[in-house]
This record gives sequence, structure tokens and C-alpha cells, in this order.
Amino acid sequence: MPPLDHFPWINGKFLGIAWSVWKVAGWLGNAVFFSRFFVQWHATEKRKQVVVPALFWWLSLAGSLLLLAYALFYKHDSVFIFAYAFTWIPYIRNLIIHHHHENARRPCPECGVLSAPSASYCSQCGAKLTDSALAPEHVSRSS
Ligand SMILES: [Zn+2]
Repeated sequence: MPPLDHFPWINGKFLGIAWSVWKVAGWLGNAVFFSRFFVQWHATEKRKQVVVPALFWWLSLAGSLLLLAYALFYKHDSVFIFAYAFTWIPYIRNLIIHHHHENARRPCPECGVLSAPSASYCSQCGAKLTDSALAPEHVSRSS
């Protein structure tokens, strides 16, 4: 039988990699972390302006935590551990800021579409956004 009939399994290794739970976690971390570039690129191309969607930060957080676990419990490599030890801090902070921004968006009294917190007019129908158009939690905070 030709050797390529067994590809990608060679000598008990799949794609030349001896798999374990931590290898799966590490490669999954790589895949999740790498996928965030496509999410950001797609969002930017769609709007024709630089956009960083919340999903980018979720993928950054999940991927970096998987890679940190891989580095801590499998590789035991100080350089690798340090590379991912603190990256979760800006990822979580950006998710918190994104959450606050989403909650501060202004609903249009005419069509109900949410506009940016600083908007004076509805981005959909052009109606003037009044203070009463602020989300209820935003009104109670500012009064
Ligand atoms: Zn509107």
C-alpha cells in the first residue's frame, strides 16, 4: 500500500502531531485567537471603516486563556506564560466599555432604531432625538 494512503495519520500521529488534551487546547486556542482577525477584517470591509466588533474581544479573551492554560499546564515555558498572562486585562476592559456604550445608545421615538450615544438625530429616519429618547437607566443616572 502506498504511504500516502495513511495520510494524515503517520506513525500514530495526526498531521505529524502527537495529540493530547493539552495539544487540543493549545491548537484550539490558536484557531480561536487567529479567527478574530477574520471577524475584524470582515466587519471593517462591510462598513468600509475600521471596526472592532465585540466578538473580536471575546475571541481574543477565549483564545488567549486557552493559550495561557496550554503554556501554564503543558509547556511550563516562562516566555510563553508571560506572553499571555496579562492580555486578558485589556480584552475584558474593552468588553466592559463596549457594554456601557451599547447601553447608552439612544432609541428613536419615531422608528425605534438605536443611534450612537452622542447622536442628536436618528441615523435611520432623521428624527430629532430628545432627552426623553435616552434609555431609562441613562435618564435615572443623569437626573
Ligand atoms: Zn428613527
